[in-house]
Amino acid sequence: MSPDIESIRSQFPILGQTVYNKPLVYLDNGATTQKPQSVIDAVADVYVRCNSNIHRGVHRLSNICTEAFEEARRAVARHINAACAHEVIFTRGTTESINLAAFSFGESFCAQGDEIVITAMEHHSNIVPWQMLCERKGMKLRVAPIDANGDLDLEALGRLLNGRTRLVAVAHVSNVMGTVNPVARIVAMAHAAGIPVLVDAAQSAPHLPIDVQALDCDFMAFSGHKMYAPNGIGVLYGKESWLDRMKPYQGGGEMIEKVTFERTTYNVLPFKFEAGTPDYVAAIGLHRAIDFIGSIGLDAIAAHEHRLARAAIERLTAIDGLRLIGTPAQRAGVVSFVIDGIHPYDIGLLLDKMGIAVRTGHHCAEPLIDHFGIAGTVRASFAVYNTMAEVDALAAGVRRVAEMMK
Ligand code: PLP
Repeated sequence: MSPDIESIRSQFPILGQTVYNKPLVYLDNGATTQKPQSVIDAVADVYVRCNSNIHRGVHRLSNICTEAFEEARRAVARHINAACAHEVIFTRGTTESINLAAFSFGESFCAQGDEIVITAMEHHSNIVPWQMLCERKGMKLRVAPIDANGDLDLEALGRLLNGRTRLVAVAHVSNVMGTVNPVARIVAMAHAAGIPVLVDAAQSAPHLPIDVQALDCDFMAFSGHKMYAPNGIGVLYGKESWLDRMKPYQGGGEMIEKVTFERTTYNVLPFKFEAGTPDYVAAIGLHRAIDFIGSIGLDAIAAHEHRLARAAIERLTAIDGLRLIGTPAQRAGVVSFVIDGIHPYDIGLLLDKMGIAVRTGHHCAEPLIDHFGIAGTVRASFAVYNTMAEVDALAAGVRRVAEMMK
């Protein structure tokens, strides 16, 4: 059943505003999503009712917050179908999750001459931490190519896997082209060679149903703020069998079992990887965001966003001189384009004056943008609260810009 978009929109106070006297058309959801009232209320409620640092307190408020934080962890585990809640590590976001994995996995399982395989469509967050690991250890970063449509070349990826490959790190969904990568197949290929896989789910967790056990991935990273939750909270999922054997990332409170000046022993999962005070307020907000997503259903969300993306492509490609960047076989609700002779930044600025928020530039995927030999793209990215009328406004706005700048 199609979701009731007007009722959904009414839960997002920010969407009702005007920008330059035009109704806000917010199409920058790949960067961050807006927050429903239930999430905003959940955050305020903690500060009004029970704020207190977690885990270490014996008093009532601390117990309430601790229980809500751990309940949020259980909600995340259910949301991605993790085998157990302690496979869910709370971080600040996808970036920190991948840095954690790259550091701790690298320290525990990598040595000089080893290799990490990524793809040509990765976000900087899934390139640079691996590059840093390679620099630290004298390892090699190998990059699986994409074809002209923006689909991953699976055969080429397969050829990169060898006895020195320690891990494959791949985006579930490209934040530039919307390409949905066949991660289950990639995991099967890598596992056949005994290689674990990390999935960057920053752009899929808000939009596609995810089952880490069915995918059988070894690690998965995503950000709360891209899935209707507050900023400052994210997740690294990892299989217990890996996490248990990995060295800690940061040292400090919470991650220890016993500290003496001579020696420290570490806490059990998940706390071993959660040094210091976590953003328990944002984690509680993330729980409400998962409830919000659950109230609609990710299948319905994906179908709605897919309809919007299809309509956007149909209307945009009818504009003279407009070229899509990426025409993948399977696409999530992300559409990138360029217009001959007009800088993406200028298109974004002019759309903004019409109240339309899109993102322009390299989208933190510079190697991919270089691959296409362009300065950047204009990107529209959809969320469940976007409407067909907003797609029409985008297409009309882009057409106006194209005519103005001719
Ligand atoms: N990976 C992908 C595919 C992304 O799109 C993003 C953000 O846009 C990130 C990683 C980084 O996410 P964050 O900035 O929330 O850590």
